[in-house]
Amino acid sequence: MVSMETLAIKTENKFRSLITKQAYKMGDIICKIPTEKLFDRANRYTVQIARDQHTEVGKLSALNHSCDPNVILDTEHLQMVARRDIELGEELSFFYPSTEWEMDAPFICLCGSSNCIHVVAGARFLSLSTLENHYLNRHIREMMIELLNNTELHLTKLMKA
Ligand SMILES: [Zn+2]
Repeated sequence: MVSMETLAIKTENKFRSLITKQAYKMGDIICKIPTEKLFDRANRYTVQIARDQHTEVGKLSALNHSCDPNVILDTEHLQMVARRDIELGEELSFFYPSTEWEMDAPFICLCGSSNCIHVVAGARFLSLSTLENHYLNRHIREMMIELLNNTELHLTKLMKA
């Protein structure tokens, strides 16, 4: 069943995390991403689903970042998917730059993964070689290509000058 009933928020020393109350297999759809409340700017309760669209995600705002996450937020199909097998009681996490171009509240990651990006501030601050190792949503890929094209245009102008 695809619903948020299987998810619970755990609070420890004011630190929130999202725990699953059931096991999942890789590729399972865990829940839908809510889109009832849309904003044109990011805040700590939103996930970016398009260039100028941020949706308030309810319980999913308790998802922490990981550079080696166990879920994917697929903003094209508006669903949260298991990236690998997940055990009952496991904390769920996703790779914030896979949805966020520029974050409202950047922070330092201490996840310890060999893929760790260290500064979590949004996709625009990461190198292509770093982003290559991670799942990225379509709007992030499009904005990255646009940024590259603009850089190229800028260089062409510089070389002509
Ligand atoms: Zn990390």
